[in-house]
Amino acid sequence: MVRGTVIFLNGASSSGKTSIVKALQSVLEVPHLDAGLDRFLWMLPKRYLDRPLWDDVLGLNTEAGQTGHRLVSGMHRAILALSEAGCSVVADHVLVESAWVADAAMLFADLPAYLVGVRCPIEVLEQRERDRRDRTLGQARAQHVVVHAHILAIGGYDIEVDTSVDSPETCARAITTHIASTPPQAFGRMRASFTALPPVQFPIERSPFPCRIGCGACCIALSISSPIPGMPEGKPAGVRCVQLTPDNRCMLFGLPERPEVCVRLRPEPEMCGETAQDALASLEALERLTRPDPQ
Ligand code: SF4
Ligand code: SF4
Repeated sequence: MVRGTVIFLNGASSSGKTSIVKALQSVLEVPHLDAGLDRFLWMLPKRYLDRPLWDDVLGLNTEAGQTGHRLVSGMHRAILALSEAGCSVVADHVLVESAWVADAAMLFADLPAYLVGVRCPIEVLEQRERDRRDRTLGQARAQHVVVHAHILAIGGYDIEVDTSVDSPETCARAITTHIASTPPQAFGRMRASFTALPPVQFPIERSPFPCRIGCGACCIALSISSPIPGMPEGKPAGVRCVQLTPDNRCMLFGLPERPEVCVRLRPEPEMCGETAQDALASLEALERLTRPDPQ
């Protein structure tokens, strides 16, 4: 089975992704299914599109809740299944979570999948946000740097377009011209940049259960015997890793200095529970069970 082409358009809210999706669908000869984030968001019950439930989706603009993580995990796997069934896809995305970037790299690196950066200066984004009236004000400003940051840090896009300069049709033509002449590289580069370790050691490879961003329970409760930058002897159980930021993110994520044990660790529902407190309790119990017996 020939796999379908996947075109991801990543950019902040109001950057013009939807218009490019439509332009691509009309210009591409092979039908491309629109399986982007907007489509998946509209699968939610309507009450989830308003606060307070929206906060558990993407209401904090740059951080998703559990519902948002599950939705994006499902979207990625649905796109993978579509491509493997021979269907081509065009999808808008807002890759504000580093875990989503990592997940996408692992899933799409072996597909004919292109990653397109959709750019636009912040002043234009904010003017569009005000004009549209259906957007949360401030969303574009919150997202416009972080949505590209994770990708630029680990290899960059296949192609970037600027919707303040070019029309959706011109952007679509630039994308199709690139696809016709150049094989996809971005997802492969990203996967390679995470680590030189074999893919099986990547923590969230095809895992339906993503790590809960901002949890950090593993980085506190578990003992790590291998060196960590800033903790050459590793760390004892119950001690916060010095590489954990105040909002519980790993400063070494995606870098070769990240300890192998952290890269290998896979989130599991039994271990992670529903909250960081659940995870701390189960990991502390695990540490107690596996602690060497003092003789
Ligand atoms: S306990 Fe689970 S959700 Fe929390 S940091 Fe560890 S892997 Fe991630
Ligand atoms: S290196 Fe990163 S993942 Fe590993 S324990 Fe420290 S903060 Fe957590």
